[in-house]
This record gives sequence, structure tokens and C-alpha cells, in this order.
Amino acid sequence: ESKRNGRGQATMFEDEMLRELRHTRRVERDLRAAILLGELELVYQPLATANGSIVACEALVRWRHSLRGVIPPAEFIPVAERTILIDHLGEFVLRRACLDMQAFPELMFGVNFSANQFKRDGVVSMVEAVLAETGTSPSRLVLEITESMAMSDDEDVRRRLTALRGRGVRIALDDFGAGFTGFAYLQSFPVDAIKIDRSFVSKLGTNSASNVLVTALVNVAHAAGIRVVAEGVETEEQHRLAKAAGADMFQGFLLARPMGLTALGEHLREKNAASAAQGGVQARTP
Ligand code: C2E
Ligand code: MG
Ligand code: MG
Ligand code: MG
Repeated sequence: ESKRNGRGQATMFEDEMLRELRHTRRVERDLRAAILLGELELVYQPLATANGSIVACEALVRWRHSLRGVIPPAEFIPVAERTILIDHLGEFVLRRACLDMQAFPELMFGVNFSANQFKRDGVVSMVEAVLAETGTSPSRLVLEITESMAMSDDEDVRRRLTALRGRGVRIALDDFGAGFTGFAYLQSFPVDAIKIDRSFVSKLGTNSASNVLVTALVNVAHAAGIRVVAEGVETEEQHRLAKAAGADMFQGFLLARPMGLTALGEHLREKNAASAAQGGVQARTP
């Protein structure tokens, strides 16, 4: 009786694995086609300074599927990451962002890179080639890497990050705090900025411990010469408290949702004219 139960479970487990594998294969095949068919698109979310001027944006990929509509990255990036496809996708996104950003020469721009892209030596020459080919100044590009991946503390990864920084490319640790890296780690890791995870930002104002924690994070980062972005700012109170904690830049639905290039142009004109009127950074038209 128990033996039959065990067999049944094993079969269910195998079925589940098979389903999973088939799903991965299908997404992989469709994604490969999507890159060729031009079904992948980028949207851009602005980053503002404390006075409200927009100085940077982050490229976020979307898959406009012919049958399924717009598919968010959480549904296909993890599949791509399990295969070499993440390299193709990563290069596509970087090139597209560099081309798009030719229209906004005053902006820095962030591109998300996967852990796995840094596992291969070719990443450094790929980035260099795309920057050269699109005539993009390396210092405009910020590669965003999630903190958990950086934590793997792989010597090769570190070497590649250092090589890219040597060329002038900036590195930001994304979703910082979610992975519970020690503060001390920040001093030794080759990084220019941290993006404090939304889970911390969303707790600002709900308890005093969160305010203390974010302030401490900002202070440690600043002491190490690292800039701080508060991401996922959704309310005026979070915005105010993140400013009070000393964050340098702010990103979130309160300030702006991710948007297409035309909307980005309008948003920039509007916001930078407003902050210039308040004595902020002078707005420049692209
Ligand atoms: P991320 O890099 O941390 O990007 C921020 C995500 O939070 C985006 O979701 C953005 O739309 C969302 N967001 C921004 N502000 C707010 C807010 O105020 N509230 C809430 N609730 N959400 C906010 P998205 O575009 O779905 O991207 C999810 C993740 O997918 C990204 O997280 C990034 O890790 C990954 N991703 C996106 N594009 C790419 C890409 O081109 N390549 C790679 N490797 N990963 C990407
Ligand atoms: Mg990011
Ligand atoms: Mg993030
Ligand atoms: Mg995130």
C-alpha cells in the first residue's frame, strides 16, 4: 500500500518535471523567435534627483506576444537565464537601449544584466562592441545587477565588473537589501551605486526601524563613495522619508511609470522645466 503511494508520488513528480521542461522549451523557442521578429520592446522608467529633475532612466524589457499580449519580464527572464538565450536577449536589450538613448544625450541609462551573463568572458567585449558601434559614451551606461548574484563572490565575475568599470561603465547593485549582504561587503565590491529594494522603501513610515535601517544603508554607502537610489517609491511619505534618509535618486510609480520613448520625451520636458523654474538643474531639450 505505502509502496504504491510512493510510486504514485514519484510518477507525479516526474510528470511535473516533464511539464516544467516542456514549458521551458516552449518559452525558449518562442523567445528566440520573438527576438528575431522584433516582439521584444523596451520601456523606460525615469530616475529623479531630490529636486525633481530627471537625470537617468532604466530600460525594462517587455515581450509583446502576438497571441498572449504583453508578457512581463518575470515570466520569461528566468527561462532565458537557464539557457544561452539570456546572452542574445542581453545583447539585444543593450543595443536597443543605446540606440534609443541617442535621442536623450543628457540622460544616463540603466540596463539590467543577468548573473549568468557575467559567467562568460565575452561579456566585456560584447559591451565594448555595442557601445562603440552605437557611439555611446561608456559613462552614460549603468549595468544593474541584482545583489544576490553579486554575492556569489565569484572571482571571474568580479574581474569582469572591474574591467567594465575600468572602461568607464557604471555598476549598480539592484534590489539591495533583499539579499542581506553585509554592509562591509559594499566597501570591497566594485560598485558605483546601490538601488535600495522596494521592500525597504515600502516600509518607510510604517515603523521607525525601517527609517533607521535605510538611513544607515545610505550612510554606509556614502562613506564608501557609493550613490544610493531608492526604488519602488509609491507614496509621498515614502518619497519624503527616503529624501530625509539621504538617498540621491528616486524611482517609482509615484514619480513615473515605465513608458515608451515618446512619453519619456514629454515627461523630461515637463519635469526638467518645472525643476529649472524652481532653481534646479537647467532643462535641456534633446
Ligand atoms: P528591477 O530591475 O528591480 O526593476 C524594477 C521593477 O519594479 C520593474 O518591473 C518596474 O516596473 C517595477 N517598479 C518600478 N517602480 C515601482 C513601484 O513604485 N512599485 C512597484 N510595485 N513596482 C515598481 P518589471 O519591468 O516587471 O521588471 C521586473 C524585473 O525583471 C526587473 O526588476 C529586472 O530584474 C528584470 N528585468 C527587466 N528587464 C530586464 C532586462 O532587460 N534584462 C534582464 N536580465 N532583466 C530584466
Ligand atoms: Mg533594475
Ligand atoms: Mg530593482
Ligand atoms: Mg526589483
